[in-house]
Amino acid sequence: MAGKLTLVPTPIGNLDDITLRALKTLAGCDAILCEDTRHSGKLLSHHEVSNKLIPFHQHNEHKVTDSLVGKMEEGQHFALISDAGMPGISDPGYLLLRACIEKNVVVEVLPGPTAVITAIVGSGLPCEKYVYLGFPPQKKGRQTFWKSLHEETRTMVMYESPHRINKALKEASETFGPERHACVARELTKLYETYHRGTLAELVAYGDDKGYKGEIVLLIEGSAAFEKRNKE
Ligand code: SAM
Repeated sequence: MAGKLTLVPTPIGNLDDITLRALKTLAGCDAILCEDTRHSGKLLSHHEVSNKLIPFHQHNEHKVTDSLVGKMEEGQHFALISDAGMPGISDPGYLLLRACIEKNVVVEVLPGPTAVITAIVGSGLPCEKYVYLGFPPQKKGRQTFWKSLHEETRTMVMYESPHRINKALKEASETFGPERHACVARELTKLYETYHRGTLAELVAYGDDKGYKGEIVLLIEGSAAFEKRNKE
């Protein structure tokens, strides 16, 4: 029997956001590779799935990848999950997936929740062309990051921590001007899910006044939509 790696997306907040195929895979594989066994244990027990959990995270992925690929070459089927959303999207996954491809181990990716796509659609900003930028650099390279986006025509989507979102909105306003439309999408699929939509000036003012809490996706209109709006 050939082994396999299956990347399984898990909920980004609401525990019911998981597909039947994901649950069948998690129950039927030989073991589940996960970032945090306690966190993933809660998801599994919510869905009455039990299986062996093996820690796989940014601090050990370099060390354990070869041995995991070896086990898959011997016929083991592993599922890879992260704490939330799609593994590999600002989460561990890429390294293991590359190693499997190099060794001709079958890789499958199940479709499912990810904060990027949920936020793009919910933001109301143009979603037929967008660019996903991960997290902006925290310190070194941050200025270059914003500068490199100055001419971006597509909707820009990034993850940002609640501690840096005000700073990011101010930097965005300096880069694109205060009238550019944007959205702070927070706590998606959770009790306090909110889409703050407006100009960068309005979003900066709200941040200074009330602040943004929780998990956040920042979306900024690209220059194409901005120019089109201003011509109309
Ligand atoms: N793999 C995940 C995915 O597919 O979306 C992303 C993992 S990354 C380590 C975590 C970041 O994703 C958070 O800091 C936040 O920016 C974003 N995020 C995750 N869940 C979210 C949610 N429910 N609402 C808003 N943003 C979320």
